[in-house]
Amino acid sequence: MSRSYDPVSPPVAATIAGSDSGGGAGIQADLKTMTTHGVFGTSVVTATTAQNTRGVHDVVPLSAEHVTAQYDAVVDDLAPAAVKTGMLATREIVEAVTRKVRTFDGPVVVDPVMVAATGDRLLSAGAEAAYDELIAAATLVTPNADEAAILVDGPVETPVDAERAGRELVERGADAALVKGGHLDADAGTVTDTLVMAGEGDDPRVRRIENSRIDADATHGSGCTLSSAIAARLARGESLEGAAVAAVDDMGEAIRRGYDVGGGPGAVNPTA
Ligand code: PLP
Repeated sequence: MSRSYDPVSPPVAATIAGSDSGGGAGIQADLKTMTTHGVFGTSVVTATTAQNTRGVHDVVPLSAEHVTAQYDAVVDDLAPAAVKTGMLATREIVEAVTRKVRTFDGPVVVDPVMVAATGDRLLSAGAEAAYDELIAAATLVTPNADEAAILVDGPVETPVDAERAGRELVERGADAALVKGGHLDADAGTVTDTLVMAGEGDDPRVRRIENSRIDADATHGSGCTLSSAIAARLARGESLEGAAVAAVDDMGEAIRRGYDVGGGPGAVNPTA
């Protein structure tokens, strides 16, 4: 009897993020999303959270040294083509990850995760300022409006504010910023995500991506899923703008087909 042996060599990507025991966000969402995109996902775990669809019960950060050791193990052997960061938990981990990704030879997507939708902190108090250096090393930063407001230290309440914040993040050294509009004007029929990209000269290019608002509960993991989808697409060789626009587009389907699991709001369903 003949058996076929036909290994494949997919692009590799790495996520540097926290574990969500409930499976909807964090490392778990990132790996599901990368797999959905035909990309081999590797993971550098920064913290474990005890959580389910109802809330976060406990958070335990790992040491910056161990995070660095995981990163080195992954990069030295599996040579990811793209990296994304999610929950980094402590200032020490933000700084250690910044030191590493600064010399990473490929795109770095930074999702500046700070607070869970339940209000639980996913980044220790006072660690926000450490993001300045990571932003300067980023290919793309993907804050929601609340995170953008903290990063630029000013209000982000309208698409005009979002564009201003995106421009500032690019001025501070990111190649691009995608300021997500899902948290803005919850009563509006559309959601506007603002993509600001460093241009040839001083003037960045701005693209507003508008989509109909979907009235859904299962949005847990949407930020993780979006940034991982962009990282996966970049690992496949897509352009930054193409990857961002396609990933935002896919989010609609991921929310529409959300997972109704557990007793809480459920989670998005990674879609490619
Ligand atoms: N990372 C972890 C480990 C989390 O627990 C959460 C939210 O609870 C997030 C990231 C952020 O999730 P979202 O993709 O919904 O922004």
